[in-house]
Amino acid sequence: MTPTQTEMRVPMSSPDLTDAEREAVAAVLRTPNLSMGSRITAFEESVAEYTGAKHALAVSSGTAGLHLSVLAAGIEAGDLVITTPFSFVASANVVLFERATPVFVDVDPVTGNIDPTQVAQAATDLASGGSAARRWLPRKGAPADYSLKSILPVHVFGQPADLDSLLATSREHNLSLIEDSCEALGATYLDRKVGPLGHSGVFAFYPNKQITTGEGGMIVTNDDEAASLMQALRNQGRAPGDSWLQHTHLGYNYRMDEMSAALGVVQMSRIEELLDKRARVASWYLDRLAEIPRAAPFGLSKTTTRMSWFVFVIRLDPTISRRKAADALIERGIPVRPYFLPIHLQQYMVDRYGYQWGDFPVSEDLGKRGLALPFSGVMKEGQVDLVCRALSDVVHEM
Ligand SMILES: *Cc1c(COP(=O)(O)O)cnc(C)c1O
Repeated sequence: MTPTQTEMRVPMSSPDLTDAEREAVAAVLRTPNLSMGSRITAFEESVAEYTGAKHALAVSSGTAGLHLSVLAAGIEAGDLVITTPFSFVASANVVLFERATPVFVDVDPVTGNIDPTQVAQAATDLASGGSAARRWLPRKGAPADYSLKSILPVHVFGQPADLDSLLATSREHNLSLIEDSCEALGATYLDRKVGPLGHSGVFAFYPNKQITTGEGGMIVTNDDEAASLMQALRNQGRAPGDSWLQHTHLGYNYRMDEMSAALGVVQMSRIEELLDKRARVASWYLDRLAEIPRAAPFGLSKTTTRMSWFVFVIRLDPTISRRKAADALIERGIPVRPYFLPIHLQQYMVDRYGYQWGDFPVSEDLGKRGLALPFSGVMKEGQVDLVCRALSDVVHEM
């Protein structure tokens, strides 16, 4: 029998909370102000200051933040957005929400981040049209008349994508750039914090992320106009000056509540501690994995001046069956998770666009071999030992 989650000897992930967080949430509950109050403003200010962004907007999830970023970039039906298939589905779904088309570009085999050389080629080919453009488009479901609008890279597992190259392509072709920074709060690209380096960037605060608010997200941008539009759209389309029942735009309720924001404020006050603890756990893993060559960590790019560890994913040697390895680890009470099934191979994407295995070979290879190990900032060295001993045994048996 496969052990259930409760029989696992180490949790897959865990938030890092103290009494300060518990007290801050309880304090909100002693006031009548549970929404649109001072905790939201304080949380937004702390993220803006930390990332160096002019504006920060708290939202109800990372996905909501990405959706608003897509709307603020003016992405609509008929538009194309260059993005990566090696990601959590939300980064491509927000393009579909507006009936625009994601154009997938394969990733770097070392980091799993979108390949900037291929992005530049795709942008050039899509601008010139014809058969050069067609090789980047899906087999079916792409608009006959299209306009390339945007690049949406993802900082996978907390490592910055190659932003300078991507920004050069975005400038050359007059495209907006949206950073899916949902896995990368605090990461630096050539000493610059990710998030506000493109037109807008989004962080996410689900409980396994670097900081948590339960559910939640934060948009950062230096663009005044985009900030003001996204502020209206998250608040039922109320523009500045609108009364409660006046709605200039078709909007959403994508607001964060005060309890979540209060939690976020305390987590942000501990951000360096939280990131350092995660980096320490990652270094324990890296030490021990050096002895297990058939379970290799992802590589770090020279441009990554600070990795913000989100999950700890290994690539199993191609001779090892991931399914068997995962089953054997779970059998030993070590929870693991395949990471990622590429987006283009998710059922609704196959139905809509006709994608097949072989379309994005690097993403597929990483997707077949990637295994996330238990990881959080509260993990103890002994727990990392336990995981790595089990992994070593399992790998040797295969
Ligand atoms: C976590 C995450 C999101 C947003 O997730 P939510 O659950 O909506 O907060 C978006 N993109 C990536 C790559 C993520 O890892």
